[in-house]
Amino acid sequence: MADRPRVRFAPSPTGELHVGNARTALFNWMFARHHGGDFILRIEDTDESRSALSYQVNLLNDLTWLGLDWDEGPEKEGASGPYKQSERLDIYARHLQQLEAADLVYPCYCTEEELEEERQALILSKRMPRYMGKCRNLTPQERKQKEAAGRKPSFRFKVPDGSFQFADLIRGAMKFEGTAIGDFIIVRSNGMPAYNFAVVIDDHLMGVTHVIRGEDHLSNTALQIMLYNAFGFAPPIFAHHSLILGRDRAKLSKRHGSVSVGEFRRQGILPEALMNYLGLLGSSFTEGREVLSREEMITAFSLDRASKSGAIFDEEKLHWLNAIYIRNCPTEDLVRRLQPFIEQAGYKTDALDPLWFNQVIDLIKNDLTTLAEVGSHIDIFFDDKFAITAEAAQILEKESVRRVLKTFAEYLENGADAVQEIYPAAIKYVKEKTGVKGKDLFMPLRAALTGRIHGPELDRVFTVLGRNGALKRLKPLIGDV
Ligand code: GLU
Repeated sequence: MADRPRVRFAPSPTGELHVGNARTALFNWMFARHHGGDFILRIEDTDESRSALSYQVNLLNDLTWLGLDWDEGPEKEGASGPYKQSERLDIYARHLQQLEAADLVYPCYCTEEELEEERQALILSKRMPRYMGKCRNLTPQERKQKEAAGRKPSFRFKVPDGSFQFADLIRGAMKFEGTAIGDFIIVRSNGMPAYNFAVVIDDHLMGVTHVIRGEDHLSNTALQIMLYNAFGFAPPIFAHHSLILGRDRAKLSKRHGSVSVGEFRRQGILPEALMNYLGLLGSSFTEGREVLSREEMITAFSLDRASKSGAIFDEEKLHWLNAIYIRNCPTEDLVRRLQPFIEQAGYKTDALDPLWFNQVIDLIKNDLTTLAEVGSHIDIFFDDKFAITAEAAQILEKESVRRVLKTFAEYLENGADAVQEIYPAAIKYVKEKTGVKGKDLFMPLRAALTGRIHGPELDRVFTVLGRNGALKRLKPLIGDV
């Protein structure tokens, strides 16, 4: 292990943060925190047509929301900045000159159409599609002609023959042949650096010691190693982790359902739960343990345990974990986190007694799987949202029920007990006076007080509703007592 490992997360701001990328960020972050190293955030925004500032803003928000704090990056400048590739163009230009001077690159004037033609011809003749080096040996004269015709060149790297190897921390020894790879573009005809070129320069200049990323980048690593060799830079250590898959074992994508951090946040998944789940996926920390705090995850993290095979995303398990985190969240904190979801569900909470509302949340939090469900759990306590379900109405229709409710209400009207004692006292009274007990007593009461046939413990519901709140529910069902 290098003295102070430096890792990076290098997203392209071209869409919402995918959970697969969030997992890559998490692995890098845990690695840095576990080894006491640095976690760098670099924005790879050289694809101008697909990058947008709004995506970048979202990205930083999502990472912050997840608690993945970076040591260097946007809004946290360090010695290796700037951390946005679009602000490093002069650096790439200098490095292109360096390769030009060493005769390791050449300008390519092929158009998209010509390249596509070549590709199709190779596929037809059952050969691997790759660039066959058409512009590699143009004479200076030919180049001048192309330029005069108004063609803007891209720059291609002269891929050397021979084999290249590297030891991947997760996948072991990797080897590839230069002959199988066509000369690839390092600078586009619009002057922007291609991903493989910029990434090598940045990882080198930023002192990155370990590159931890998804296995979909393995073929890029081959090209990047060639560039490291061309520049005379020592390559970092690579670790390519498996990808997140859908249930059909295809790479997790939109057609499988929710896939972005933003979607899960909007559903009311807690960041701790999502972090825990992503950390768990395909790289179990310690046998049998599934609920781990940030600190425990950092301590237990090891790349050696990251599995080579893809990990299947199981939304049910994420919800299961989320319910545990909600249950364990201190009520006051939970109320704060629930605020936007409660407002979204149409509740006005400004005028509420905070102590009373904490009681409400305390009562229903064990039943929540996501924060967004909150509206349909607290409605029983709000007169303007309260409604009697068809199932509850069926129970309340029975003639015998009226007597139970009436007797219960009668006690509330007249009993002088303190609020904690009034419920058991009223129940006792109803039992004695009507002879009704068990389900026949509690179901009508539940149906009347909550409008439902399931829900939190009735005595606690009663405490939150209070004597008057309960009477308000009972009276329309029985007429005046
Ligand atoms: N910008 C690349 C991506 O988002 C980074 C890949 C890498 O980690 O090198 O896929």
